[in-house]
Amino acid sequence: MPVSSDVDGRADAEGDGSASGTDSLPINELFESLQGEGRLAGVPSVFVRTSGCNLRCWFCDSYHTSWEPTHATMRVEEIVAEVESYDADHVVVTGGEPMMHDATVALLEALDARGYHVTVETNGTIYRDAPIDLASVSPKLASSTPTPETDPTPDDAPTGADEWEQRHEERRIDFDALAALAEEFDFQLKFVVSDREDMAEVTDLVERIRAVADVPIPDSSVLLMPEGATKDRIEETRPLVAELAQEFGFRYTPRLHVNLWNDAPET
Ligand code: SF4
Repeated sequence: MPVSSDVDGRADAEGDGSASGTDSLPINELFESLQGEGRLAGVPSVFVRTSGCNLRCWFCDSYHTSWEPTHATMRVEEIVAEVESYDADHVVVTGGEPMMHDATVALLEALDARGYHVTVETNGTIYRDAPIDLASVSPKLASSTPTPETDPTPDDAPTGADEWEQRHEERRIDFDALAALAEEFDFQLKFVVSDREDMAEVTDLVERIRAVADVPIPDSSVLLMPEGATKDRIEETRPLVAELAQEFGFRYTPRLHVNLWNDAPET
């Protein structure tokens, strides 16, 4: 059952929306669909989307977990029961930034105990010791940083880009967390690419992660994903990003859910 139709209100707009309790989580939506991104694209999966994020990408495609977070609070056992009501044996814990919340560890342990394959989609700024089958890590490039020109909530001063531009820029890369995620989990590094100018930063970041991580970071674990939350925008960015993947020897990942369902919620 989707929960986004049963939100209990907007999370703390002044803060990140993180939850410190260990037995419940702010859940924006919970649904079954096809994994749209990364090397498991196309696999039927149950999505558990937590609310709250420590970043504010201007192009955020889950706006209601970041810029204007909304959620229902669910206990971990309620989330697991909801997951079990679907057929899929893959689960994607996503956000927002799911690693912000203490109770995400309890959720991951409960899903692991039941034999689910669990992908965690994270911006790579937080590491937690938890059972994760695939860490899908999406470090945010400088082009993600909101500015007064790109702020999607320009009339909302307390959460606007004036405040978030600096905070986002300070937080968006944490090499210790990135190295730990690569070392402890099967992982993929997924970069949202808008244009060719992003590639200098992508290659620099990959090299710097390689320098600090104690495990190999093969080119095949580096995925380029076209920026765009709508079919129209993806059509603009897709050809260039596919070309860049071939040119740099990285992997291209589609956004199947956008191609199939555009920007509809619960897809
Ligand atoms: S890190 Fe992800 S959820 Fe957070 S603002 Fe950026 S795109 Fe949105």
